[in-house]
Amino acid sequence: MEEIAIKSSKHFEFIDITREIQNVVRKNRVSEGICHLYVPHTTAAITINENADPAVKNDIISTFAKLIPWNGFYTHLEGNSAAHILSTIVGVSAVIPISRGELTLGRWQGIYFCEFDGPRIRRLIVSIMGE
Ligand code: ZN
Repeated sequence: MEEIAIKSSKHFEFIDITREIQNVVRKNRVSEGICHLYVPHTTAAITINENADPAVKNDIISTFAKLIPWNGFYTHLEGNSAAHILSTIVGVSAVIPISRGELTLGRWQGIYFCEFDGPRIRRLIVSIMGE
């Protein structure tokens, strides 16, 4: 198990962590197995989607902002309910198979840490299992 620190710089942000996770997998020298990613936060998440065209992540972020408006009618007094809701919708974990020592991501896929209430310093738990 390894913990990675992620520093977000915006309120709403998708941070491409693909290369960083690839490096953890290579360092662990697991040939066949799984890579489990876990976000121990209530206003952040993890997702896998296209990282070739940056317009895709921008479209996701702008659509999220329309679907779950920051200033909607919420009762949570901290005032960040939209971030909590998005964390639950997107999810706080991901599992990626490892084959021949590499993540088996699709050609256009990248791993994104999703910040919904930044900027903050965040944690990501990476667990590599296999042999
Ligand atoms: Zn809150």
